[in-house]
Amino acid sequence: MIVFDLTCDSGHRFEGWFGSSDDYAGQRARGLVSCPQCGSATVEKAPMAPAVPRKGNSQPAVPAHPAKQPMARGPMPPEVAEALGKLAEAQAKALKDSRWVGDTFAEQTRAMHYGERDPETIHGQASLEEAQALFEEGIPVAPLPFPVAPPDELN
Ligand SMILES: [Zn+2]
Repeated sequence: MIVFDLTCDSGHRFEGWFGSSDDYAGQRARGLVSCPQCGSATVEKAPMAPAVPRKGNSQPAVPAHPAKQPMARGPMPPEVAEALGKLAEAQAKALKDSRWVGDTFAEQTRAMHYGERDPETIHGQASLEEAQALFEEGIPVAPLPFPVAPPDELN
């Protein structure tokens, strides 16, 4: 047996079971395949669920159950929004006692590490190369989960 997702000319979707693909084609040609909702015999194989991208028609037809697919559309799930909110809050708390040093971050971090200046909690900007260089020198730096606007860019 083979199952096809079918759609009629009124857009109703339904499943049809057939002995084979040829069986489907034969029954359809004789008008034996009809929509259970409106009785229309003008039926086509329904396109797969729009959330599942498909390449070509070479793959076997799989019964689509779009309702059971995890979807990324629509508003953010509350638990994700909450987790992001907590992360943002944690970052804000961590940065409260931290001084913005802008693009001198790598320079100042290095100076502190080698005892050339008093230790202080700072945050700022570093290029990927600078961050990598600090990391390779064994200087602990951490990327911030959220971008921070330099204070002079704030209103
Ligand atoms: Zn119909």
